[in-house]
Amino acid sequence: MVTNKLNIYNTANQKFMKKIKLVGLALLITQLTFAQEWGRKFEQLGTMLPTPNEYRTASGAPGGAYWQQRADYVINVELDDNNQTIKGFESITYFNQSPDPLNYIWVQLDQNMRAKDSESPLVRTSSIRGDSIPAYFVAMGNNEVTGYDGGFKIIAVKDAGGNDMNYTINHTMMRIDLANVLKPGEKIVFSVDWWYNINNRMLDHGRGGLEYFEKDGNYLYTMAQWFPRMAVYSDFHGWQNKQFLGRGEFALAFGNYDVKITVPSDHIIGATGTLQNPEEVLTSTEIKRFEQAKKSFTEPVIIVTQEEAVKKESAPVTTKATWHFKAENVRDFAFASSRKFIWDAMAVKVGDLTPLAMSYYPKEGNPLWEKESTIAVKNTLETYSKYTIDYPYPKAISVHAASIGMEYPMICFNFGRPDEDGTYSESTRNRMVMVVIHEVGHNFFPMIINSDERQWTWMDEGLNTFLQFRTEQEKYENYPSRRGPAKNIVGYMKGDKNNIRPIMTNSEQLKQFGNNAYAKPATAMNILRETVMGNELFDKAFKTYAERWAFKHPEPADFFRTMEDASGVDLDWFWRGWFFGTDHVDLTVENVKWYKVRDTENTLEGRAQKGQIKNPANVDEDGNFSDFSNGFELITITDTNPRFYGEFKSTVDDEAIRAKLSGKNMYEVTLRNSGGLVTPIIIEWTFKDGSKETEKIPAEIWRYNEERITKVFTKDQEVTNITIDPLLETADVNTDDNYFPKRESESKFDKFKEGKN
Ligand SMILES: [Zn+2]
Repeated sequence: MVTNKLNIYNTANQKFMKKIKLVGLALLITQLTFAQEWGRKFEQLGTMLPTPNEYRTASGAPGGAYWQQRADYVINVELDDNNQTIKGFESITYFNQSPDPLNYIWVQLDQNMRAKDSESPLVRTSSIRGDSIPAYFVAMGNNEVTGYDGGFKIIAVKDAGGNDMNYTINHTMMRIDLANVLKPGEKIVFSVDWWYNINNRMLDHGRGGLEYFEKDGNYLYTMAQWFPRMAVYSDFHGWQNKQFLGRGEFALAFGNYDVKITVPSDHIIGATGTLQNPEEVLTSTEIKRFEQAKKSFTEPVIIVTQEEAVKKESAPVTTKATWHFKAENVRDFAFASSRKFIWDAMAVKVGDLTPLAMSYYPKEGNPLWEKESTIAVKNTLETYSKYTIDYPYPKAISVHAASIGMEYPMICFNFGRPDEDGTYSESTRNRMVMVVIHEVGHNFFPMIINSDERQWTWMDEGLNTFLQFRTEQEKYENYPSRRGPAKNIVGYMKGDKNNIRPIMTNSEQLKQFGNNAYAKPATAMNILRETVMGNELFDKAFKTYAERWAFKHPEPADFFRTMEDASGVDLDWFWRGWFFGTDHVDLTVENVKWYKVRDTENTLEGRAQKGQIKNPANVDEDGNFSDFSNGFELITITDTNPRFYGEFKSTVDDEAIRAKLSGKNMYEVTLRNSGGLVTPIIIEWTFKDGSKETEKIPAEIWRYNEERITKVFTKDQEVTNITIDPLLETADVNTDDNYFPKRESESKFDKFKEGKN
């Protein structure tokens, strides 16, 4: 389409009037051009995103030829409570659903991060301080200090016929060479025989491991990354080939699990999946209470009481029991086992489904845990289901384990322990509720919407933290959410840029992990929802992403594209600024000029209009005003030159336009983008009679000039105050300069600048 300036007339009457105002001020507008460097802040992401293909479309949805691998596991495992070891025999059925023939397959041996030859301590920097506590030297990763012999001991790797297979262990990865090529559409069955010494979490802060309770001599096991797991082979990475160094989490394929866990028979196990043999491992009383819990939608039912758990602590048994669990379409399997466990459960209604919310905790967690944990699980399932998909698994478990928050399908391990006397502070309670919501929320990101955590932490932590914030706000009154509110990210955003990396940085290379991967993307989601897109467009797009990628493997571009595709909002500038950059939001009110249109009629009022009152004290060297004390300046709307109409045969009623604008207040506002990150502008006007008006201007206003914009606003009433971002929703790092009349600290800053000059 070819345009020229005249097509502004080809519009509806209202738009026409608006444009005409601008015609009158055309001279002023053209004067305001500034030299600036083009930061490409509004360029499309283009080549920064992968080229769409038949597996992943340009819309952000899985393509027609989308595929993913599948791994099914049958595992028999025994936990030895006397020696704190675990020994397993597992059979893996690996389905090659890719279009590629495979000569070898890769298995992840994450426990090897703790092996004696681990690279993790080698790549961890350290230095000597004079006053280091012993734990510091343990944290340096030197197993010599603790004498701990960690890592998988692989006994055998065999094919379905029982023949040894060739394998090579490269630290946390094991390559199994196949005798015959695994063709597309084929599957292979093989087995791994292994054992390892369970780590003490107090010493190594492991995601899984044991906690020892000195007072009663019992252990609480939270078992994670406890068995050799298939690596992901994908259309975007081939085989996942990044070693587990400890920080970047996991990339895992979906599959079905059939797991038999043998433990002392007085232990209670919480695990991924559904218990297949309750009559063999639970008492009839426990089964009866369990059945009650399935029908209790208002409050948890205690299945194993504190009294019953405490009784077992002092009289451990020597007999064993085998718990049998099955889970479908999960990417991992974790469990917790202890004779110390109290256990409660209740049912939750999400859509047509009624999953169970459950908690397992030692007496050390009470009375906090019996009160808050299962309710928090329920709250999480309800809120997350609303924003994503109905929670599809049969249960969600929260286990109390000291000083950790860590997630697995259907089960997570959470901190929040009262003092020895059972009392706890409001902050302990709030932090415990927060971590339960967060870790249960991980069922959705990344357990169901299965992103690659080894590459991108924000895709699970950031999106999850955003919904954690929504849950805190929607389910708890006056909850002091730490991550999510825009104002809480300001300290990080304005920090030293040498210590800040873009959100789009690999998990292992992130600096300021919590801020980068949790708080910043969560805040970005909030700003997108509340300020950029609006709730309705955002919620629909976010839900679309969840629906499209549930039980699949999304990549960052799939998220970016879906959010735009489902909302009709071009967000490339937003992803560029918030996800690929380290700029921050900081708008500065540079100048405000007040104008009135000269009244042409020879009325008393017209004659009373004076020209500009000069008040040099309130004008700086750049000609910027600091307040309204100069009064207004009169402008004249001249008659239209007939040449302006070009070929059009109709004309504008100049007098009518003048009459319409006469006596109105026009404010020419100049804003500087001091922080570099482009942002919508929220501008609050306070009028002489005390009333207020808020206007929101889309970020596209910065598309021609990323550093400075000037815009004219017409108001009936005189304005006394202008505030940018009055509700602190854009994470503007310096709000002192968001006002007109300018505030003290800004003029101090100007004086400081002048002094320097
Ligand atoms: Zn997390």
